[in-house]
Amino acid sequence: MEEKNNKTENRSEKKPKNFIYEIIDEDIRTNKWGGRVHTRFPPEPNGYLHIGHAKAICLNYGIAQHYGGKFNLRFDDTNPEKEEVEYVNSIIEDVKWLGADFEDRLFFASDYFEQMYQWAVELIKKGKAYVCDLSAEEIRKTRGTLTEPGIESPYRNRTIQENLDLFERMRKGEFPDGAKTLRAKIDMASPNLNMRDPVMYRIIHQPHHRQGNKWCIYPTYDWAHGLEDSIEGITHSICTLEFENHRPLYDWFLDQLEIYHPQQIEFARLNLSYTVMSKRKLLQLVQEGYVDGWDDPRMPTISGLRRRGYTPEAIRNFTEIIGVAKRDALTDIALLEYAIREDLNKRAQRAMAVLNPLKVVITNYPDDLVEELDAINNPEDFSAGTRKVPFSKEIYIEQTDFMENPPKGYYRLVPNGEVRLRYAYIIKCEEVIKNDKGEILELRCTYDPDTKSGSGKSNKKVKGTIHWVSARHAEKAEVRLYDRLFTVEEPAAYENWLDYINPNSLTIIPEAMIEPSLKNAKPGDKFQFERNGYFCVDTKYSTNEKLVFNRTVTLKESWKKDSN
Ligand code: ATP
Ligand code: MG
Repeated sequence: MEEKNNKTENRSEKKPKNFIYEIIDEDIRTNKWGGRVHTRFPPEPNGYLHIGHAKAICLNYGIAQHYGGKFNLRFDDTNPEKEEVEYVNSIIEDVKWLGADFEDRLFFASDYFEQMYQWAVELIKKGKAYVCDLSAEEIRKTRGTLTEPGIESPYRNRTIQENLDLFERMRKGEFPDGAKTLRAKIDMASPNLNMRDPVMYRIIHQPHHRQGNKWCIYPTYDWAHGLEDSIEGITHSICTLEFENHRPLYDWFLDQLEIYHPQQIEFARLNLSYTVMSKRKLLQLVQEGYVDGWDDPRMPTISGLRRRGYTPEAIRNFTEIIGVAKRDALTDIALLEYAIREDLNKRAQRAMAVLNPLKVVITNYPDDLVEELDAINNPEDFSAGTRKVPFSKEIYIEQTDFMENPPKGYYRLVPNGEVRLRYAYIIKCEEVIKNDKGEILELRCTYDPDTKSGSGKSNKKVKGTIHWVSARHAEKAEVRLYDRLFTVEEPAAYENWLDYINPNSLTIIPEAMIEPSLKNAKPGDKFQFERNGYFCVDTKYSTNEKLVFNRTVTLKESWKKDSN
């Protein structure tokens, strides 16, 4: 608890130097908002949150925290067609898990529908909005291009009375989907296409997950978003760069209505290498079964990262490392992996687990002897203490820790060679037992009793130390190893992006051998399996009968040669 408080203090002391903080500093200097800072995170509940959203959440929440301001979670639930309660619930869970505390400020844009409707009526009365009978297709066609002005709608000059009447009848459900829209009356020749009489309301006869059948007209993002910010008294409405060209419209609506007017500020969205981030693509991966749900540990979703073993601290730290910029870029996924390694290195208890076991019989070790050896739980944190690890005549080591014909620089076990067993003894390989096909079945070794770790009896030195588990005491577990989900850096750059899915992104090891202290590990518990990486107990498939571990990340950058 104490540590947590210190951390938050540190976090707000080292202020991230980015242009948004500079804008806010200036606003505070000029007393623009009476010293207030109020941000929000406004997801549309049409999918699960991903690491890009985490960036937006940490940015908005971090700002509120830094300036002693407020942070809202607001669902932008204005489109009943793609939105679901499942998404709402997952988003709330993820935002809380990330530690972005919205206190009692959980809002839904749909709760503002009546107020938005009244403001639309006001715009009609001011001659600034009209009901248009053009179809979506016709509106698109008459919008013009960057070089040519658009064509004014034949319905543009309806009288205010007629518009009020038609808009009310739209609301009452007198017209079918797509028959009419409400449009802002701005300028069909504006160089900014967003200002060419944008649509404010569409007719959609669909029940809404919160409003039921109350509405059959739904506001567009451009119309709704500024109103939502205004209602909540947001000071800085921070969004991604694609909304830069929408800002004049955001401002126009608020100016016409003469209501409280927050400031929209845009920043570059996060793009991660070897990853797709659009919700449409993530949904496709889920629906077409390329992954095992939104929380598949290979997904860039918050729930996927959580299941994979990521911590909120690592994700927050990652968003601080990458910073906030005004220009789009591709962030190396290795930075995300770096952030989780840094965090788990400090916190994860060490354990020994053999992923691909090779049996070793220590011929000169007493048959029935079991020694309880001391193992350090975390060399980065001695307060984590030690544990006992049983050692006996038969042990397992990794298949990759023995080679008959080793390359130069291989310091593990070889015929007639010696290696140290972590926390135990130095052993020497005396004999290699094979089957008819020449496959290695087991090794016969001898140990040197004087070389017990920490005993100080012998000063014999060997170059390699390997991990092991006692065969008699080992528990079996399933272990899942992950690789990148895509084989190319920027999958979204390809039309046929699904062709670049990595066929080897998941490797399941049905029977790894783990040290007995892991037996009581609980879903979500995190460990470093010495030399094999960081692992956590899977929250979906682990049972009392069978532990399932996910590898969160390897110990080294995974493309380096000597990694496992
Ligand atoms: P879609 O993929 O459907 O366009 P979206 O990813 O923009 O949706 P929203 O629910 O509208 O999803 O996003 C909520 C907030 O998160 C927005 O303010 C948006 O700007 C921000 N956001 C979304 N993706 C990223 C990203 N990759 N990096 C940073 N912020 C993001
Ligand atoms: Mg969006």
